[in-house]
Amino acid sequence: MPLLPSLAPRCLSPFAYRQVTPSDAGLPEDVNFNSFALVCSCGADDWRVHGYWLGNREAFIGPLAVECTQCAAKLELIDTDKDGHDAEIGDSCVERGSGPRTIWICDECKSSDGRLIASFGYQFEPDAEVALRQQDYFDAFILTHLCRASRRMVQVAMFDCA
Ligand SMILES: [Zn+2]
Ligand SMILES: [Zn+2]
Repeated sequence: MPLLPSLAPRCLSPFAYRQVTPSDAGLPEDVNFNSFALVCSCGADDWRVHGYWLGNREAFIGPLAVECTQCAAKLELIDTDKDGHDAEIGDSCVERGSGPRTIWICDECKSSDGRLIASFGYQFEPDAEVALRQQDYFDAFILTHLCRASRRMVQVAMFDCA
């Protein structure tokens, strides 16, 4: 398997994130993911997710923003037209929404609020050009909500970026 990049992708630059293990997000350890718990610059790590439901709540799609429940800062998290492998090569076809966003709701706790882990997948061997910014060429993105009610990890969104 290719080596994981040592840096976080640039879409996390507005955050004070903390690296965690993929298993903290319920992901298997034998796949190449870098996972980060999202922390706000105010120090809080309780978030509300904004995006778009696809169809009859079949999937939640981006562009995704997250809102700190403590200081109300709203930060853009990911836009697959700008972030990820296919966006880097100008060829993203991940479905996106437009217009006013809605707040994601967890089926378990009936709330959006909770801790979040953003995971970025790297399954490809980077070529020389990509290797300079390998962290931005992720091929998968998964956002996980850590549910207070069920204590389980609930996937908010999963994007195939390559
Ligand atoms: Zn905050
Ligand atoms: Zn929940």
